[in-house]
Amino acid sequence: MPGIILLSGGLDSTVALALHLEKNVVDLALTFDYGQRANQREISAARSIAEHYHIPHKVVPLPFLQEQTFSALVNRSEGLPLMELSDLDDLDGQAQKSARQVWVPNRNGLFLNIAAVYAENMGDGAVLITGFNSEEAATFPDNSLEFMAAMNICFTFSTQNQVTIVSETSIYSKKEIVREGLRLHVPFEHIWSCYESEERVCGQCESCLRLKRALLANGAQGLVTQLFGFQ
Ligand SMILES: [Zn+2]
Repeated sequence: MPGIILLSGGLDSTVALALHLEKNVVDLALTFDYGQRANQREISAARSIAEHYHIPHKVVPLPFLQEQTFSALVNRSEGLPLMELSDLDDLDGQAQKSARQVWVPNRNGLFLNIAAVYAENMGDGAVLITGFNSEEAATFPDNSLEFMAAMNICFTFSTQNQVTIVSETSIYSKKEIVREGLRLHVPFEHIWSCYESEERVCGQCESCLRLKRALLANGAQGLVTQLFGFQ
């Protein structure tokens, strides 16, 4: 069946792509540019990953979403929340606060609906592949299994070919996603999971910390050094 990967160039979507390719084909990779701080880094990472897997890659510009997003993920005059490793599981405290500070209005709902437009032109049984994960679903409800199920019901009404979302990573924590990525030899050197867009990853934003913790939990010290330096 035809497949579209929503590819940000980060850990989760890259491993979701590799997992889906184990048994299926993927015909197109979509990356969304909504003026996020890391947009150029993410686009470059996604392009490299798509090339690695020989999948056509398209960037979808969303200037209106940039205009309507006032959080630190897009608004460069706001400081990004910096966390400690111990904050990541503080779901009612720092993790929830960080999620609010980087929220983008209806982001995943919008991305999936845009991708469904492409999928509706791909024929019967087209699927949208996402890098949802159980760890971030705790603070980002648009990463959850419930959200995915609700969107799939919507698509039975809004698409003629019954587009559906699949996410092989959705039941996994970041630790388990890294484990699968190592097993499938994903090109970790190409991924960009940082909220910032500097020469090197910042190592301090929530996304960096979750990746670093997951790599360390898998004993991938070499990758930590390669991606984060000696921080
Ligand atoms: Zn970072």
